[in-house]
Amino acid sequence: MRRMRTLVLALTGVLVATPLAAQFDLEPHRASADRLIQSALRDSAAYQRLGRLVDGFGHRMTGAPSLERAIDWIVAEMRRDGFENVRKEPVTVTHWVRGVESAELITPRRTKLAMLGLGRSVGTPPQGIRAPVLVVRNFADLRARAAQARGKIVLFNVPFDTTVASFAGYGGAVVYRGAGADSASAVGAVAALVRSVTPRSLRSPHTGGMSYDTSGRLKKIPAAAISVEDAEMLQRMQDRGERIEVRLTMGARTLAPAVSHNVIAELRGSERPDEVIVMGGHIDSWDVGQGAMDDAGGCVAAWEALRLIKQLNVRPKRTIRVVLWTAEEIGLTGANAYRDAHRAEVDKHVLAMESDNGVFRPRALSFGGVAPGLDVMGRIASLLGSVGVYTARAGGPQADISPLYALGVPVASIDTDGSRYFWYHHSEADMIDKLDPVDLARNVAIFAVIANVVANMDGSLGRAR
Ligand SMILES: [Zn+2]
Repeated sequence: MRRMRTLVLALTGVLVATPLAAQFDLEPHRASADRLIQSALRDSAAYQRLGRLVDGFGHRMTGAPSLERAIDWIVAEMRRDGFENVRKEPVTVTHWVRGVESAELITPRRTKLAMLGLGRSVGTPPQGIRAPVLVVRNFADLRARAAQARGKIVLFNVPFDTTVASFAGYGGAVVYRGAGADSASAVGAVAALVRSVTPRSLRSPHTGGMSYDTSGRLKKIPAAAISVEDAEMLQRMQDRGERIEVRLTMGARTLAPAVSHNVIAELRGSERPDEVIVMGGHIDSWDVGQGAMDDAGGCVAAWEALRLIKQLNVRPKRTIRVVLWTAEEIGLTGANAYRDAHRAEVDKHVLAMESDNGVFRPRALSFGGVAPGLDVMGRIASLLGSVGVYTARAGGPQADISPLYALGVPVASIDTDGSRYFWYHHSEADMIDKLDPVDLARNVAIFAVIANVVANMDGSLGRAR
């Protein structure tokens, strides 16, 4: 039954949409691609714009005034750039605030621990929670020591696996940030600490989202990240048989829902304006550092790409739309809201692109869709050798385009050098100096070339499913 339905859907897709670009001809696109690359690399305009955004507004935590001020500035700048249909689309968002927070080692020695509360965590009573600490290596270790966990603060000291690709290393450790509190609560712990999810540390704590079981069976306990160095120190103390006591104080609260906005700007298509290429990043960040890498850089890459395409003075045949999604970090809220607000035209989204892995040095293109689409993307990659990209490989969606991908929109992204991404991710160190102006310009060029080729090509990339 399922196979049959897939077949019917696939057939209808081919019949009603533009035929797949099996005979895709690259040559008509070469000259404009070269011009886009040259103008992206000519100066550091993208980096200057990124600097004004992140130095001018700082972090853009969901619910914070700085996010909405940044959004208003972007909208004004985009209108000055001469884009079309520049607008804000309202999104109701979770408004979590950190409040005043600290973690103090009391026994065997009094000292401050470098910490950051986790997003969506509950707070502690005003006087904090003072309790003995149980350090565990993983969930299995916690299960084995479950009898010792009651009344304690459980620390998950789970290293970031540096022997695998960085996003795989992240995936292996981040589950403890997300679900550590519930696991600890289930065995009677009073709070949870997690070792910061990073492969490198200069005693910098890294925040990030967590969540609670919604069934109401588990008590919600506060959760915070501590630095790798502090986690290792507590581990050594436990290994020596020392009694460890910590006071965790967190003023974290979830306030009434707030209103934020997705930002949209377009160049309307000349021949098929109802067919849309989307590219963007998420405009919100955590409330530490500047969120320059995660993800102001991705937002500016898409924004500048649209500006360069406009400068070509050749209106694209399909509509090219920049979307800066809000409230990604606190729950992918802007991306889901975009999908819902645009559901009627999702079938007309011919490609969605996102940059949320850091605008570091590009290495390849990643494409999620059918084989003929991947073939087209591979040929587009052959236009991008001067910016470090030669190939396209199959890959899934980044976060904010995953709701579109689930509805069949093909997705593309730039596979960048991710080796340093998690050094800075969700920490005070995520500031613009970690990004390189030339690497940013290369990302701008790639977004511009892909968007412009797909907007002007005969045939389509097919549906992703
Ligand atoms: Zn991000």
